[in-house]
Amino acid sequence: MAASRETSPPVHIMGAGLSGLAAAIVLAKAGKEVHVHDIREDSGARFDGDFQALENWSMDDDFFDQLGAWGLDASSFKATEFSTVDLIHPDDTITQARTQGAAYRIVERGTSSHTIDQGFKRQAEEAGVQIHYKSRVKEEDCTVIACGPKGTSAVAYGEIFSTDHPNHIAFQLNDKLAPGSYSYLIIIDGVGLICTCLWRKQRKSERFLNETIAWYERHYPNLNRTPIKRVGGKGDFTINRRYKQDGRYYVGESGGLQDFMWGFGMRMAVWSGVLAARDILGEGDYERDVRRHLMPYVRTSVANRWLMNRVGDRTFKRMCKAWMKDQEKRGDGLVWIGKIFRPTLFKGLLYRVVSPFMLKSDPKAMGRGVRRMPFRPALSRDVWEPSEEAKAIGLQWDTVRRGGGHVSFSNDSESDGQ
Ligand SMILES: Cc1cc2nc3c(=O)[nH]c(=O)nc-3n(C[C@H](O)[C@H](O)[C@H](O)COP(=O)(O)OP(=O)(O)OC[C@H]3O[C@@H](n4cnc5c(N)ncnc54)[C@H](O)[C@@H]3O)c2cc1C
Repeated sequence: MAASRETSPPVHIMGAGLSGLAAAIVLAKAGKEVHVHDIREDSGARFDGDFQALENWSMDDDFFDQLGAWGLDASSFKATEFSTVDLIHPDDTITQARTQGAAYRIVERGTSSHTIDQGFKRQAEEAGVQIHYKSRVKEEDCTVIACGPKGTSAVAYGEIFSTDHPNHIAFQLNDKLAPGSYSYLIIIDGVGLICTCLWRKQRKSERFLNETIAWYERHYPNLNRTPIKRVGGKGDFTINRRYKQDGRYYVGESGGLQDFMWGFGMRMAVWSGVLAARDILGEGDYERDVRRHLMPYVRTSVANRWLMNRVGDRTFKRMCKAWMKDQEKRGDGLVWIGKIFRPTLFKGLLYRVVSPFMLKSDPKAMGRGVRRMPFRPALSRDVWEPSEEAKAIGLQWDTVRRGGGHVSFSNDSESDGQ
């Protein structure tokens, strides 16, 4: 039911990212006066042209169908659909996981017009949302808190390059190159990204990226890589006792609504923004709906993360083999990975047992009972000498940087800061 702009008070939203804009669009379309405030100069400015994957395996519904059902237009941004991925085992074997439909879609983050951030911004403006950039507001003065990560649980660090290689995606489980996590290669229309995620805090984290790039250059000899810039960011993984407090709705990463295992957070960010808007419109109950729709997945991902923290390359290899065996049996590579993300009784029990030890409470969370997954310390196996190729890649980047190559995420310092 459309509310009259004259009679209902304006809604103020903190953060013009995916979750904040999703909430804003739904509210404005229902007739609310909406103001979105962002400290940065534009939507997407937290990112700098990096590619991210909209996963489509964790639920039965296709994410784009969900967007349509929420009144959000998936054609407002560029999305490249993939049904295959190179799966790189820790022993460097490369196999392919494949399915029939869209396994995932790659979108770009940032301020270019084809990014998902700008697509959401356009939809918001068309719906009548007033967006105030470079605007600093207080949490207490806003109804929806959608300002992304606060603390650091993990970081990702990548290089964007130009290439003449055809579109391609690779996903690598290798505990040396991506401690506790994974690295990936994405190539879309002449632009490539090689990225490594660090789920253990490292000194000189750039060496992980250089070594990862060296690995991909060795195994994908036709990359023809010309570095453009380096990008990255932090992820904040929290469980909250309350997602709505004192009339404020905590959505997206501000509410810790994220995939603890591998950091796929965009789907939950958008979904939580929509759920908050529906509650404001009197069409739902945010606290209940988050617990019903999102928390089972978040809890599963906490259990997954606990398991992942306990293993290394030997188990990663077993995982890769199990994935491929399952694909052979079913003729679909999406089933195995989908099962890992879906709630089960075992994962629910595991969550209950491990989460009190795994998460640390955040005293600055204004009584919302926030418990954060701490950035884990490095292990002795994370200390190694870079290869000659990786050193050369580091030197190559130094030259590009001196020539104006932009870095949107500093080597180590931003790991703990804004
Ligand atoms: C390097 C990297 C790679 C990732 N890859 C993937 C991926 O492949 N797939 C996936 O699903 N997820 C991925 N994620 C996670 C995904 O980016 C986040 O889950 C998602 O962006 C969260 O949306 P959000 O709306 O909570 O935050 P954002 O989209 O980041 O928006 C937050 C906004 O709030 C603004 N803001 C910050 N502080 C304030 C303040 N004090 N006042 C006002 N505004 C403020 C910021 O400027 C920003 O515009 C990745 C994250 C990183 C860092």
